[in-house]
Amino acid sequence: MQVIGACGLICSECEAFKATQANDLEKLTELAKSWGSPENPLTVDDMRCNGCMSDVVFKNALKCGVRGCAVEHKVAHCGECSDFACQKLNGLWKGYKLNPTDMMKNLGKAQ
Ligand code: SF4
Ligand code: SF4
Repeated sequence: MQVIGACGLICSECEAFKATQANDLEKLTELAKSWGSPENPLTVDDMRCNGCMSDVVFKNALKCGVRGCAVEHKVAHCGECSDFACQKLNGLWKGYKLNPTDMMKNLGKAQ
């Protein structure tokens, strides 16, 4: 099943999501090492994620402004928000070099 993040990224294609579903501790350990840094060390439990709008969320994703905004707006993702597609969302797409057309499609906003 495809799991979509608040911004339109496909959470279910992420390595952390896949390793969590498989309870692959070796992979989660490897990801924690490669995605962590001395300033932001990550543990295996920090890596666990069932998608950014689920109840088990990768530690760094908890800091995402778009995710936080979707939680505040009580929407499953930005495609359900009355302010779609706001500056914050467009800023994230631009910052991560995501294709807005693809993201809109993932969010059910294809034109
Ligand atoms: S945490 Fe933020 S960047 Fe990651 S999928 Fe969710 S909304 Fe998108
Ligand atoms: S205001 Fe923007 S970032 Fe926040 S939930 Fe709505 S569309 Fe997403």
